[in-house]
Amino acid sequence: MRIFTAALATETNTFSPICIDRRAFEASLYAPPGKHPETPTLCTAPITVGRRVAAEKGWHLIEGTAAWADPAGLVNRATYEMLRGEILGQLRAAQPVDAVVLGLHGAMVADGYEDTEGDLLARVREIVGPDVLVCAELDPHSHLTAKRIAAADFFVFFKEFPHTDFVDRAEDLWRIAVDTLEGRMRPVMSVFDCRMIDVFPTSREPMRSFVDKLIRIENEDPDVLSLSVVHGFMAGDVPEMGTKMVVVTNARLDKGQELARNLGLELFAKRGMFRMPEIDARQAVAEAIAAPVGPVVIADMWDNPGGGTAGDATVVLQELLASGVTDAAIGTIWDPMAVQICMAAGEGAEIPLRFGAKSAPGTGDPIDGIVSIMRLVRNAEMRFGESLAPFGDAAHIRYRGIDIILNSTRAQGFDPSLFSVMGIDPRSKKILVIKSTNHFYASFSKIAAKILYCSAGSPYPNDPTRTPYRHAPRDIWPIASDPHAKRGAA
Ligand SMILES: [Zn+2]
Repeated sequence: MRIFTAALATETNTFSPICIDRRAFEASLYAPPGKHPETPTLCTAPITVGRRVAAEKGWHLIEGTAAWADPAGLVNRATYEMLRGEILGQLRAAQPVDAVVLGLHGAMVADGYEDTEGDLLARVREIVGPDVLVCAELDPHSHLTAKRIAAADFFVFFKEFPHTDFVDRAEDLWRIAVDTLEGRMRPVMSVFDCRMIDVFPTSREPMRSFVDKLIRIENEDPDVLSLSVVHGFMAGDVPEMGTKMVVVTNARLDKGQELARNLGLELFAKRGMFRMPEIDARQAVAEAIAAPVGPVVIADMWDNPGGGTAGDATVVLQELLASGVTDAAIGTIWDPMAVQICMAAGEGAEIPLRFGAKSAPGTGDPIDGIVSIMRLVRNAEMRFGESLAPFGDAAHIRYRGIDIILNSTRAQGFDPSLFSVMGIDPRSKKILVIKSTNHFYASFSKIAAKILYCSAGSPYPNDPTRTPYRHAPRDIWPIASDPHAKRGAA
Protein backbone atom coordinates (compact mmCIF):
# COMPACT_ATOMS: atom_id res chain seq x y z
CA MET A 1 0.00 0.00 0.00
CA ARG A 2 1.09 3.56 -0.76
CA ILE A 3 -0.47 6.15 1.55
CA PHE A 4 -0.07 9.92 1.38
CA THR A 5 -0.29 12.01 4.55
CA ALA A 6 -0.02 15.73 5.26
CA ALA A 7 -1.39 18.37 7.61
CA LEU A 8 -2.61 21.93 7.13
CA ALA A 9 -4.34 23.59 10.06
CA THR A 10 -5.17 26.67 12.04
CA GLU A 11 -8.27 27.95 13.83
CA THR A 12 -9.57 31.20 12.35
CA ASN A 13 -11.47 33.64 14.52
CA THR A 14 -12.82 35.78 11.67
CA PHE A 15 -13.46 38.62 14.15
CA SER A 16 -9.82 38.71 15.29
CA PRO A 17 -7.62 41.58 14.09
CA ILE A 18 -4.51 39.35 14.22
CA CYS A 19 -4.18 38.17 10.59
CA ILE A 20 -1.66 35.48 9.80
CA ASP A 21 0.79 34.83 7.01
CA ARG A 22 3.47 32.26 6.29
CA ARG A 23 5.65 33.54 9.14
CA ALA A 24 2.91 32.60 11.62
CA PHE A 25 2.98 29.00 10.36
CA GLU A 26 6.77 28.98 10.48
CA ALA A 27 6.67 30.29 14.06
CA SER A 28 4.28 27.51 15.18
CA LEU A 29 5.00 24.49 12.96
CA TYR A 30 6.22 24.23 9.39
CA ALA A 31 7.67 20.83 8.52
CA PRO A 32 8.47 19.92 4.91
CA PRO A 33 8.25 16.21 3.93
CA GLY A 34 10.05 13.95 6.41
CA LYS A 35 10.89 16.84 8.74
CA HIS A 36 7.94 16.48 11.10
CA PRO A 37 9.20 15.85 14.65
CA GLU A 38 8.45 12.55 16.42
CA THR A 39 5.83 14.13 18.66
CA PRO A 40 2.66 15.56 17.12
CA THR A 41 1.14 19.01 17.53
CA LEU A 42 -2.65 19.24 17.86
CA CYS A 43 -3.54 18.59 14.21
CA THR A 44 -0.60 16.50 12.98
CA ALA A 45 -1.09 13.21 14.86
CA PRO A 46 -2.19 11.40 11.63
CA ILE A 47 1.45 11.76 10.50
CA THR A 48 3.14 10.41 13.63
CA VAL A 49 0.61 7.60 14.15
CA GLY A 50 0.81 6.86 10.41
CA ARG A 51 4.56 6.28 10.68
CA ARG A 52 3.99 3.56 13.26
CA VAL A 53 1.11 1.92 11.35
CA ALA A 54 3.04 1.94 8.05
CA ALA A 55 6.12 0.43 9.73
CA GLU A 56 4.02 -2.35 11.30
CA LYS A 57 2.26 -3.15 8.02
CA GLY A 58 5.27 -2.75 5.79
CA TRP A 59 3.37 -0.11 3.83
CA HIS A 60 4.87 2.96 2.16
CA LEU A 61 3.92 6.22 3.89
CA ILE A 62 4.58 9.28 1.73
CA GLU A 63 4.80 12.35 3.95
CA GLY A 64 3.79 15.72 2.60
CA THR A 65 4.15 19.08 4.31
CA ALA A 66 2.77 19.65 7.82
CA ALA A 67 1.85 23.22 8.75
CA TRP A 68 0.08 24.53 11.86
CA ALA A 69 -0.39 28.13 12.99
CA ASP A 70 -1.62 29.09 16.45
CA PRO A 71 -5.22 30.36 16.40
CA ALA A 72 -5.65 33.91 15.11
CA GLY A 73 -7.57 35.82 12.44
CA LEU A 74 -7.88 35.54 8.68
CA VAL A 75 -5.17 33.64 6.79
CA ASN A 76 -3.39 35.56 4.06
CA ARG A 77 -4.64 34.37 0.65
CA ALA A 78 -1.23 33.80 -0.95
CA THR A 79 -0.08 31.91 2.15
CA TYR A 80 -3.01 29.47 1.98
CA GLU A 81 -2.62 29.01 -1.78
CA MET A 82 1.11 28.41 -1.42
CA LEU A 83 0.70 25.78 1.33
CA ARG A 84 -2.18 24.14 -0.56
CA GLY A 85 -0.14 24.09 -3.76
CA GLU A 86 2.80 22.56 -1.94
CA ILE A 87 0.71 19.68 -0.55
CA LEU A 88 -1.21 19.03 -3.78
CA GLY A 89 2.06 19.03 -5.75
CA GLN A 90 3.46 16.42 -3.36
CA LEU A 91 0.30 14.32 -3.76
CA ARG A 92 0.53 14.48 -7.58
CA ALA A 93 4.17 13.40 -7.42
CA ALA A 94 3.21 10.50 -5.13
CA GLN A 95 0.60 9.04 -7.55
CA PRO A 96 -0.67 6.38 -7.60
CA VAL A 97 -1.71 6.12 -3.93
CA ASP A 98 -4.21 3.84 -2.15
CA ALA A 99 -5.24 6.37 0.49
CA VAL A 100 -4.88 9.99 1.62
CA VAL A 101 -4.90 10.51 5.40
CA LEU A 102 -4.89 14.16 6.47
CA GLY A 103 -4.58 16.20 9.65
CA LEU A 104 -6.84 19.26 9.44
CA HIS A 105 -8.45 21.65 11.91
CA GLY A 106 -11.72 22.48 10.20
CA ALA A 107 -12.07 26.16 11.10
CA MET A 108 -9.43 27.70 8.85
CA VAL A 109 -10.67 30.67 6.84
CA ALA A 110 -8.43 32.37 4.30
CA ASP A 111 -8.98 35.59 2.41
CA GLY A 112 -11.19 34.51 -0.50
CA TYR A 113 -11.82 31.00 0.94
CA GLU A 114 -14.54 30.58 3.58
CA ASP A 115 -14.09 26.78 3.43
CA THR A 116 -10.39 26.07 3.01
CA GLU A 117 -10.69 22.44 4.15
CA GLY A 118 -13.53 21.84 1.65
CA ASP A 119 -11.41 23.45 -1.05
CA LEU A 120 -8.38 21.32 -0.19
CA LEU A 121 -10.34 18.05 0.11
CA ALA A 122 -12.17 18.63 -3.20
CA ARG A 123 -8.83 19.20 -4.95
CA VAL A 124 -7.40 16.07 -3.32
CA ARG A 125 -10.41 14.07 -4.56
CA GLU A 126 -9.95 15.49 -8.06
CA ILE A 127 -6.34 14.27 -8.12
CA VAL A 128 -6.87 10.76 -6.69
CA GLY A 129 -10.27 9.98 -8.28
CA PRO A 130 -13.44 8.51 -6.74
CA ASP A 131 -12.08 5.12 -5.60
CA VAL A 132 -9.15 6.11 -3.38
CA LEU A 133 -9.79 6.38 0.38
CA VAL A 134 -9.69 10.00 1.60
CA CYS A 135 -10.06 10.63 5.35
CA ALA A 136 -9.03 13.18 7.96
CA GLU A 137 -8.82 13.88 11.67
CA LEU A 138 -10.16 17.28 12.72
CA ASP A 139 -10.73 19.52 15.74
CA PRO A 140 -14.41 19.63 16.85
CA HIS A 141 -14.22 23.45 16.83
CA SER A 142 -14.79 23.37 13.12
CA HIS A 143 -17.36 23.86 10.40
CA LEU A 144 -18.59 20.68 8.74
CA THR A 145 -19.57 21.70 5.21
CA ALA A 146 -21.38 19.76 2.49
CA LYS A 147 -18.32 20.21 0.28
CA ARG A 148 -16.10 18.39 2.77
CA ILE A 149 -18.61 15.57 3.30
CA ALA A 150 -18.85 15.07 -0.47
CA ALA A 151 -15.08 14.99 -0.96
CA ALA A 152 -14.04 12.63 1.86
CA ASP A 153 -14.94 9.06 2.86
CA PHE A 154 -15.00 9.73 6.58
CA PHE A 155 -13.86 12.06 9.34
CA VAL A 156 -12.86 11.52 12.96
CA PHE A 157 -12.98 14.52 15.34
CA PHE A 158 -11.43 14.88 18.81
CA LYS A 159 -14.00 13.95 21.47
CA GLU A 160 -12.47 15.79 24.41
CA PHE A 161 -12.40 19.54 25.16
CA PRO A 162 -9.70 20.31 26.36
CA HIS A 163 -8.34 18.23 23.46
CA THR A 164 -6.44 15.59 25.42
CA ASP A 165 -7.35 12.81 22.95
CA PHE A 166 -5.92 14.00 19.63
CA VAL A 167 -3.51 11.05 19.46
CA ASP A 168 -6.23 8.52 20.41
CA ARG A 169 -8.47 9.83 17.67
CA ALA A 170 -5.62 9.59 15.12
CA GLU A 171 -5.39 5.93 16.18
CA ASP A 172 -9.12 5.56 15.45
CA LEU A 173 -8.65 7.22 12.05
CA TRP A 174 -5.86 4.84 11.09
CA ARG A 175 -7.61 1.75 12.46
CA ILE A 176 -10.64 2.44 10.26
CA ALA A 177 -8.36 3.26 7.30
CA VAL A 178 -6.45 -0.03 7.69
CA ASP A 179 -9.68 -2.06 7.98
CA THR A 180 -10.96 -0.35 4.83
CA LEU A 181 -7.76 -0.87 2.83
CA GLU A 182 -7.66 -4.53 3.85
CA GLY A 183 -11.25 -4.99 2.68
CA ARG A 184 -12.92 -5.65 6.03
CA MET A 185 -14.99 -2.48 6.12
CA ARG A 186 -16.68 0.11 3.98
CA PRO A 187 -17.04 3.31 6.04
CA VAL A 188 -19.97 5.62 5.25
CA MET A 189 -20.63 8.91 6.98
CA SER A 190 -24.02 10.11 8.29
CA VAL A 191 -24.42 13.69 9.46
CA PHE A 192 -27.17 15.42 11.45
CA ASP A 193 -27.30 19.22 11.66
CA CYS A 194 -28.18 20.07 15.29
CA ARG A 195 -29.10 23.62 14.21
CA MET A 196 -27.39 25.11 17.23
CA ILE A 197 -24.06 26.63 18.33
CA ASP A 198 -22.73 26.19 21.85
CA VAL A 199 -19.59 25.59 23.94
CA PHE A 200 -19.12 21.99 25.13
CA PRO A 201 -16.42 21.52 27.81
CA THR A 202 -16.12 17.77 28.46
CA SER A 203 -14.52 18.41 31.89
CA ARG A 204 -18.04 19.00 33.28
CA GLU A 205 -21.61 17.79 32.91
CA PRO A 206 -23.65 17.26 30.86
CA MET A 207 -21.05 16.85 28.08
CA ARG A 208 -18.91 14.43 30.11
CA SER A 209 -21.72 11.86 30.21
CA PHE A 210 -22.61 12.44 26.56
CA VAL A 211 -19.07 11.71 25.38
CA ASP A 212 -18.87 8.65 27.66
CA LYS A 213 -22.09 7.45 26.03
CA LEU A 214 -20.59 7.88 22.53
CA ILE A 215 -17.57 5.80 23.55
CA ARG A 216 -19.88 3.12 24.97
CA ILE A 217 -21.86 2.90 21.71
CA GLU A 218 -18.64 2.67 19.68
CA ASN A 219 -17.46 -0.22 21.86
CA GLU A 220 -20.76 -2.10 21.88
CA ASP A 221 -22.17 -1.72 18.35
CA PRO A 222 -20.11 -3.49 15.65
CA ASP A 223 -21.81 -1.44 12.87
CA VAL A 224 -20.61 1.84 14.42
CA LEU A 225 -17.00 2.70 13.54
CA SER A 226 -16.81 6.24 14.95
CA LEU A 227 -19.01 8.90 16.56
CA SER A 228 -18.13 12.59 16.68
CA VAL A 229 -19.72 15.77 17.89
CA VAL A 230 -18.64 18.69 15.73
CA HIS A 231 -19.01 21.42 18.35
CA GLY A 232 -18.83 24.16 15.75
CA PHE A 233 -16.85 27.37 16.13
CA MET A 234 -18.88 30.48 16.92
CA ALA A 235 -15.99 32.85 16.17
CA GLY A 236 -15.95 31.74 12.54
CA ASP A 237 -18.48 33.76 10.54
CA VAL A 238 -19.14 31.25 7.72
CA PRO A 239 -22.39 30.00 6.12
CA GLU A 240 -22.23 26.45 7.53
CA MET A 241 -21.24 27.34 11.11
CA GLY A 242 -22.93 25.17 13.75
CA THR A 243 -23.02 21.97 15.80
CA LYS A 244 -23.25 18.69 13.85
CA MET A 245 -23.41 15.01 14.82
CA VAL A 246 -21.29 12.61 12.74
CA VAL A 247 -21.77 8.84 12.67
CA VAL A 248 -19.44 6.60 10.66
CA THR A 249 -20.86 3.11 10.11
CA ASN A 250 -19.73 0.03 8.25
CA ALA A 251 -21.95 0.47 5.17
CA ARG A 252 -25.10 1.12 7.25
CA LEU A 253 -26.11 4.55 5.98
CA ASP A 254 -29.76 4.39 7.18
CA LYS A 255 -28.82 3.16 10.63
CA GLY A 256 -26.15 5.88 10.80
CA GLN A 257 -28.66 8.59 9.82
CA GLU A 258 -31.08 7.51 12.53
CA LEU A 259 -28.37 7.35 15.19
CA ALA A 260 -26.96 10.75 14.15
CA ARG A 261 -30.45 12.27 14.38
CA ASN A 262 -31.23 10.74 17.79
CA LEU A 263 -27.88 11.76 19.30
CA GLY A 264 -28.06 15.20 17.67
CA LEU A 265 -31.53 15.89 19.06
CA GLU A 266 -30.35 14.71 22.50
CA LEU A 267 -27.62 17.37 22.35
CA PHE A 268 -30.13 19.97 21.18
CA ALA A 269 -32.43 19.12 24.11
CA LYS A 270 -29.57 20.03 26.50
CA ARG A 271 -28.80 23.37 24.77
CA GLY A 272 -27.75 26.12 27.17
CA MET A 273 -26.65 23.64 29.86
CA PHE A 274 -23.10 22.97 28.65
CA ARG A 275 -21.17 26.19 29.34
CA MET A 276 -19.42 26.94 32.60
CA PRO A 277 -21.05 29.65 34.77
CA GLU A 278 -19.57 33.08 33.95
CA ILE A 279 -19.50 36.34 35.91
CA ASP A 280 -18.59 39.86 34.79
CA ALA A 281 -15.46 41.82 35.75
CA ARG A 282 -17.12 43.80 38.55
CA GLN A 283 -18.50 40.69 40.24
CA ALA A 284 -15.23 38.78 39.75
CA VAL A 285 -13.13 41.51 41.39
CA ALA A 286 -15.65 41.92 44.24
CA GLU A 287 -15.68 38.17 44.92
CA ALA A 288 -11.88 38.02 44.78
CA ILE A 289 -11.55 40.89 47.28
CA ALA A 290 -14.12 39.26 49.58
CA ALA A 291 -12.37 35.86 49.56
CA PRO A 292 -10.67 35.18 52.93
CA VAL A 293 -7.48 33.78 51.39
CA GLY A 294 -5.67 33.86 48.07
CA PRO A 295 -4.63 33.37 45.50
CA VAL A 296 -7.96 33.85 43.79
CA VAL A 297 -7.51 33.17 40.08
CA ILE A 298 -9.64 35.29 37.77
CA ALA A 299 -9.66 33.73 34.31
CA ASP A 300 -10.28 36.48 31.76
CA MET A 301 -11.74 33.58 29.83
CA TRP A 302 -12.76 35.17 26.54
CA ASP A 303 -9.60 37.23 25.96
CA ASN A 304 -7.80 33.98 25.28
CA PRO A 305 -5.10 34.12 22.58
CA GLY A 306 -5.72 30.35 22.23
CA GLY A 307 -9.07 31.34 20.71
CA GLY A 308 -7.47 33.80 18.34
CA THR A 309 -7.86 37.04 20.31
CA ALA A 310 -5.03 39.53 20.83
CA GLY A 311 -4.90 38.96 24.59
CA ASP A 312 -4.44 42.65 25.33
CA ALA A 313 -7.75 43.51 27.04
CA THR A 314 -7.58 45.79 30.10
CA VAL A 315 -11.16 45.48 31.37
CA VAL A 316 -10.30 43.40 34.46
CA LEU A 317 -7.25 45.57 35.21
CA GLN A 318 -9.42 48.72 35.04
CA GLU A 319 -11.80 47.11 37.53
CA LEU A 320 -8.90 46.25 39.89
CA LEU A 321 -7.62 49.83 39.67
CA ALA A 322 -11.09 51.25 40.29
CA SER A 323 -11.42 49.02 43.37
CA GLY A 324 -8.04 50.14 44.77
CA VAL A 325 -6.61 46.60 44.74
CA THR A 326 -2.83 46.41 45.13
CA ASP A 327 -2.12 42.78 46.02
CA ALA A 328 -2.62 41.46 42.48
CA ALA A 329 -0.68 40.27 39.45
CA ILE A 330 -1.79 40.10 35.82
CA GLY A 331 -0.27 37.77 33.27
CA THR A 332 -0.28 38.63 30.47
CA ILE A 333 -1.19 41.69 28.43
CA TRP A 334 0.08 41.45 24.85
CA ASP A 335 1.81 44.68 23.80
CA PRO A 336 5.01 44.26 21.75
CA MET A 337 5.35 48.03 21.34
CA ALA A 338 5.24 48.69 25.10
CA VAL A 339 7.69 45.80 25.70
CA GLN A 340 10.10 47.36 23.23
CA ILE A 341 9.88 50.69 25.07
CA CYS A 342 10.47 48.97 28.43
CA MET A 343 13.47 47.07 27.02
CA ALA A 344 14.98 50.37 25.87
CA ALA A 345 14.39 51.97 29.28
CA GLY A 346 15.91 49.08 31.26
CA GLU A 347 15.22 47.39 34.60
CA GLY A 348 14.70 49.79 37.49
CA ALA A 349 13.57 52.67 35.28
CA GLU A 350 10.38 54.60 35.97
CA ILE A 351 8.74 55.76 32.75
CA PRO A 352 5.48 57.07 31.31
CA LEU A 353 3.89 54.23 29.36
CA ARG A 354 0.74 53.53 27.35
CA PHE A 355 -0.07 49.82 27.32
CA GLY A 356 -2.82 47.35 26.43
CA ALA A 357 -6.14 47.42 24.53
CA LYS A 358 -4.62 48.61 21.26
CA SER A 359 -5.80 45.84 18.92
CA ALA A 360 -9.54 45.48 18.94
CA PRO A 361 -12.80 47.03 20.15
CA GLY A 362 -14.51 45.66 23.25
CA THR A 363 -11.24 45.23 25.13
CA GLY A 364 -11.26 48.35 27.33
CA ASP A 365 -8.96 51.34 26.87
CA PRO A 366 -5.17 51.59 26.85
CA ILE A 367 -3.72 52.41 30.27
CA ASP A 368 -1.61 55.57 30.56
CA GLY A 369 0.58 56.02 33.62
CA ILE A 370 3.98 56.15 35.26
CA VAL A 371 5.18 52.57 35.59
CA SER A 372 8.21 50.96 37.28
CA ILE A 373 10.09 48.38 35.26
CA MET A 374 10.75 45.47 37.63
CA ARG A 375 12.19 42.79 35.37
CA LEU A 376 12.89 42.22 31.67
CA VAL A 377 13.22 38.76 30.12
CA ARG A 378 14.14 37.96 26.51
CA ASN A 379 12.35 34.96 24.95
CA ALA A 380 10.37 34.20 28.09
CA GLU A 381 8.77 30.75 28.45
CA MET A 382 6.25 29.17 30.80
CA ARG A 383 5.72 25.49 31.47
CA PHE A 384 2.85 23.70 29.71
CA GLY A 385 2.60 20.11 30.86
CA GLU A 386 5.82 18.42 29.76
CA SER A 387 6.74 21.17 27.29
CA LEU A 388 7.42 24.91 27.29
CA ALA A 389 5.21 27.63 25.84
CA PRO A 390 7.04 30.77 24.65
CA PHE A 391 5.57 34.20 25.31
CA GLY A 392 8.32 36.28 23.75
CA ASP A 393 10.28 39.21 25.12
CA ALA A 394 8.45 40.25 28.27
CA ALA A 395 8.39 43.06 30.80
CA HIS A 396 7.23 42.90 34.41
CA ILE A 397 5.99 46.37 35.26
CA ARG A 398 4.37 47.71 38.44
CA TYR A 399 1.58 50.24 38.17
CA ARG A 400 -0.33 51.61 41.20
CA GLY A 401 0.72 48.58 43.23
CA ILE A 402 -0.31 45.96 40.66
CA ASP A 403 2.25 43.68 39.01
CA ILE A 404 1.63 43.38 35.27
CA ILE A 405 3.40 41.21 32.70
CA LEU A 406 3.53 42.63 29.19
CA ASN A 407 4.48 40.14 26.48
CA SER A 408 5.32 40.20 22.79
CA THR A 409 4.31 36.69 21.62
CA ARG A 410 0.61 35.98 22.15
CA ALA A 411 0.12 33.05 24.53
CA GLN A 412 -2.60 31.96 26.92
CA GLY A 413 -1.82 31.55 30.62
CA PHE A 414 -1.18 27.84 30.89
CA ASP A 415 0.84 27.68 34.09
CA PRO A 416 1.79 29.72 37.21
CA SER A 417 5.43 29.61 36.04
CA LEU A 418 4.51 32.49 33.74
CA PHE A 419 4.62 34.66 36.89
CA SER A 420 7.68 33.11 38.54
CA VAL A 421 9.92 33.48 35.45
CA MET A 422 9.12 37.20 35.61
CA GLY A 423 10.08 37.44 39.28
CA ILE A 424 6.56 37.31 40.75
CA ASP A 425 5.71 34.64 43.36
CA PRO A 426 2.17 33.66 42.30
CA ARG A 427 1.38 32.07 45.70
CA SER A 428 2.11 35.35 47.47
CA LYS A 429 -0.60 37.32 45.62
CA LYS A 430 -4.21 37.66 46.71
CA ILE A 431 -5.44 37.94 43.12
CA LEU A 432 -4.02 36.48 39.90
CA VAL A 433 -5.56 37.46 36.57
CA ILE A 434 -4.81 35.23 33.58
CA LYS A 435 -6.01 34.95 30.00
CA SER A 436 -7.27 31.46 29.24
CA THR A 437 -10.67 29.81 28.79
CA ASN A 438 -10.05 26.42 30.36
CA HIS A 439 -6.53 25.11 29.59
CA PHE A 440 -5.18 26.92 32.69
CA TYR A 441 -7.27 24.81 35.03
CA ALA A 442 -5.03 21.76 35.47
CA SER A 443 -2.02 23.71 36.77
CA PHE A 444 -3.60 26.79 38.40
CA SER A 445 -6.10 24.71 40.38
CA LYS A 446 -3.10 23.35 42.34
CA ILE A 447 -2.26 26.78 43.80
CA ALA A 448 -5.63 28.57 43.70
CA ALA A 449 -7.80 29.08 46.77
CA LYS A 450 -10.62 29.91 44.36
CA ILE A 451 -11.14 30.11 40.59
CA LEU A 452 -13.51 32.60 38.94
CA TYR A 453 -14.51 32.41 35.26
CA CYS A 454 -14.86 36.01 34.15
CA SER A 455 -16.45 37.24 30.93
CA ALA A 456 -15.04 40.77 30.60
CA GLY A 457 -15.73 43.12 27.71
CA SER A 458 -16.24 41.57 24.29
CA PRO A 459 -12.84 40.55 22.91
CA TYR A 460 -14.34 37.30 21.58
CA PRO A 461 -17.77 36.77 19.97
CA ASN A 462 -19.04 34.46 22.75
CA ASP A 463 -22.73 35.42 22.57
CA PRO A 464 -24.19 34.38 19.20
CA THR A 465 -27.37 36.39 19.80
CA ARG A 466 -25.28 39.58 19.82
CA THR A 467 -22.46 38.73 17.41
CA PRO A 468 -22.69 40.78 14.20
CA TYR A 469 -22.57 37.78 11.85
CA ARG A 470 -22.72 38.49 8.15
CA HIS A 471 -22.50 34.92 6.80
CA ALA A 472 -23.44 32.51 9.61
CA PRO A 473 -26.91 30.93 9.52
CA ARG A 474 -29.68 32.74 11.43
CA ASP A 475 -32.00 29.76 11.91
CA ILE A 476 -29.87 28.09 14.60
CA TRP A 477 -30.22 28.21 18.39
CA PRO A 478 -29.66 30.56 20.28
CA ILE A 479 -30.18 33.04 17.44
CA ALA A 480 -33.51 31.29 16.74
CA SER A 481 -35.32 29.82 19.76
CA ASP A 482 -36.41 26.49 18.30
CA PRO A 483 -35.23 25.94 14.71
CA HIS A 484 -36.22 22.25 14.74
CA ALA A 485 -39.85 23.02 15.55
CA LYS A 486 -39.97 25.51 12.70
CA ARG A 487 -38.50 22.96 10.32
CA GLY A 488 -40.77 20.18 11.55
CA ALA A 489 -37.76 18.48 13.20
CA ALA A 490 -36.66 17.47 9.71
ZN1 LIG B 1 -10.61 23.06 19.42
